[in-house]
Amino acid sequence: MPQAHRLDAEQHPDSVCLGCGCLCDDITAVVADGRVVAAEHACARGEAWFAASSEDASPECWIDGQPAAIDDGLDHAAAILRNARSPLVTGLDAVCVEAQRIAVAIADRIRGFVDAGGLGAHESSIHAALEVGSVGCTLGEIRHRADLVLAWFVDPVATHPRFFERYGVDAIGEFVPRGRADRRLCVIDEHETATAAQSDHLLLLKRDRRLAALWTVRAIVAGLSLDPHTVARLTGVSLEQWNTLARLLLDARYGVILHDAGAADAEASIESAAILHLVRVLSERTRFVAAALGSGNNAKGAEQVLLWSTGYPAAVDLRGAVPAYQPQEATTSRLLDRGEVDAVLSLEGRLALDSIETSAGCSIVALVEDDLDPVPNAQVVFRVARLGTHAGGTVFRSDGVPIPARAVLPSHAPAAQELIALLLDRLEHAPGAGDA
Ligand code: SF4
Repeated sequence: MPQAHRLDAEQHPDSVCLGCGCLCDDITAVVADGRVVAAEHACARGEAWFAASSEDASPECWIDGQPAAIDDGLDHAAAILRNARSPLVTGLDAVCVEAQRIAVAIADRIRGFVDAGGLGAHESSIHAALEVGSVGCTLGEIRHRADLVLAWFVDPVATHPRFFERYGVDAIGEFVPRGRADRRLCVIDEHETATAAQSDHLLLLKRDRRLAALWTVRAIVAGLSLDPHTVARLTGVSLEQWNTLARLLLDARYGVILHDAGAADAEASIESAAILHLVRVLSERTRFVAAALGSGNNAKGAEQVLLWSTGYPAAVDLRGAVPAYQPQEATTSRLLDRGEVDAVLSLEGRLALDSIETSAGCSIVALVEDDLDPVPNAQVVFRVARLGTHAGGTVFRSDGVPIPARAVLPSHAPAAQELIALLLDRLEHAPGAGDA
């Protein structure tokens, strides 16, 4: 039911919530007194995301911790990046596509590394897709076709509260006209989660048995005969239970495995590859896809922009004559861990905060959004407008669909794309820049 608002409140229909990877674009943001006072259609998590917005009048630039003019900050930042021997541009996943394109141009101009950021998150699914190939779909396809959803160690009811309502289990679709009644929800997880409480079929599995479980289901689907004792020993679950699950998967007309794209642990890449292998075997018998539940950042956009611009999805070395893909060497985490860069342009301020221990001897230029504190270990910090509330820009949903986010509040700070466009201009028009 529509809520009553003050007469002087402004309504912004079709606003985009960046509170989680659903990127709901049906939100009506209600603005009064320079704040978002309500977010109609949003879940509690989305309301909190909008409520965190504020009108900020604090300084927009700091040099060595002291407030400074933006022009001076740009000159200082340009000098740091221009004089670096081994610079890194990272944190692309925190900004819109328009800013990402400029960030790649900056990395190219200063002949450095460029990476999406995230300190390892999202890398695993990229590597797995490159190695195995992926069978994916849009969230709209899940909405209209999926009659079986397998939640694999994810809890969308808690982390993506409107996923089931908009795209998954509860949504009414063209080929699932009765919504929940036409769909089956299977959950495999370590604990009884909020999603598990709504499931039709729950299987509890220890986290360290994930790979054995995925290989087991794949073998059953492929028609191999397995030894029950070995299966029980390796997975902690009986072969009979795995057979039941495999039958459910094969009975689906259109199934989807929901998984986490953001895991950064050592096994994540192998696990992502195992999920894609299972989907491939299932697809020989019925229609099956894998769908990663993304976060509210723009990791997918960073992947797309890097692909368009350099031919590679992450960890690109632009120091040579042609772009080089170095997934084992040039990720943000590995470069910082090994101290192989002497200057970092981080579009994600928290990255600089997180890397204090590893940034000794490295100069940092950082962008922070208006809800973050200045970065203590950075030489130059620019405050930029918060994407989605104070600044507009294009964000890619985890299924690769671009969503245009619009500003609903004024901002004293420039948008990230405006700020780094000025920085690129400084780098291109500095004395002697044409020789670079
Ligand atoms: S489901 Fe996610 S994107 Fe949608 S309103 Fe809730 S937090 Fe925002």
